Formats: sequence, C-alpha cells, structure tokens
Amino acid sequence: MDLYGSHINRLIEELQGLPGIGQKTAQRLAFHIVNMPKERVESLASSMVEAKEKANYCRECYTITDEELCPICRSEKRNHRQIMVVETPRDLAAYERTGRYEGVYHVLHGAISPMLGIGPNDIKLKELIKRLSGPSGEPLCDEVIVATNASLEGETTAMYILKLIRTLGLDIKVTRIASGVPVGGDIENTDEVTLERALIGRTEM
Ligand code: ZN
Repeated sequence: MDLYGSHINRLIEELQGLPGIGQKTAQRLAFHIVNMPKERVESLASSMVEAKEKANYCRECYTITDEELCPICRSEKRNHRQIMVVETPRDLAAYERTGRYEGVYHVLHGAISPMLGIGPNDIKLKELIKRLSGPSGEPLCDEVIVATNASLEGETTAMYILKLIRTLGLDIKVTRIASGVPVGGDIENTDEVTLERALIGRTEM
C-alpha cells in the first residue's frame, strides 16, 4: 500500500538498504529527514557524496582514509615494525579505542572463507606480504600480530598468514591475540578492556 507517495517511499527504501536498518527505523529516519531544515538535509547529502568521492585505501595499511596515508601510518610516534592484522577498518577503530596499541595496522578487508568463495587473493594478503620484507629479503618488521576474528574464517586466515610468513622464511615473530575475544564474536563489538587483555595476552603462533 502506498502510504507516503513515491519520493518518500524511495527515501525509505534507500535507507532500508543500509546495514542494521529495518523498515521501522528507515521510516523513522525518513520522517526525521523530511522534517529537518533544508540546509541540514543538503549538508547531510553533500557530506555523503564528498566522503564517497574522497575515500580511498591508505597506500600502506589499506584502511579507509581520504588521504594517501592514514594518520596512523603517517605518525612518527607509532612503532612501524609492529603490524597488527585486522579484518576491517572497524576492527582497527576498536583497537584504537583501547589507546594501548602503539604499532601500526594492516586491514585485510575480509577473511578467507571457502564457504563464501573468498580466497587469499580476494583480501589484502599480497599487500601484507609486500610490507614485510625489503628488496633483498630483509624483514621490515619485527612482529605481526594476527587479530582476525575468533570465527572459523578468522582462524583459517590466521593460520594462512602464519604459513605464508614461514614459507617465505621471514624471520618475523607472529603472534595471535589471546582468546579474550569471544569465539565467533566480532572484534568491533568487544569492549576495550577485553581487547586490551587479548592484546597483552597474545601468544606466539
Ligand atoms: Zn595507513
């Protein structure tokens, strides 16, 4: 049944296509938007378009940024010889919230999942390996902390990374975050204290 007319319906449908937004929330947001002052709606719309146009991957760690290098990779205060491997930029943000990690990151943008047909070449693994050693095979980092999720996909990816580094004969310590992160649980939804403990309690793989 067409209750609101095609323009408002389209807005509701667009919002409903976003993650975590069901029909009721989409309606509530749509009504909120049409009741907002026009300038605020224009500012909201242009901020979305501009963020989309400017967003790209950091050339070093592949997190999303609107510059060539993200602020973490640019920072001289960070330990660039310690690389934490995470699945998503949201996981990176979760570890940053602990305020206790001083190394840098590598964002894979996914995890290996034979079930979903996602292989090693579908995530930023080659890019990780490239960061680990120099032209004559000398290691460019001291430690890789594998902080993929405690899911089947996350564990498969962790083992794959370890195997890859060992096969290449790179003299780099590979550690896995402790199991403080609930099995099957998402890093981005884990509280800071648990993440900090998982980081401190990491063990060599
Ligand atoms: Zn970066």
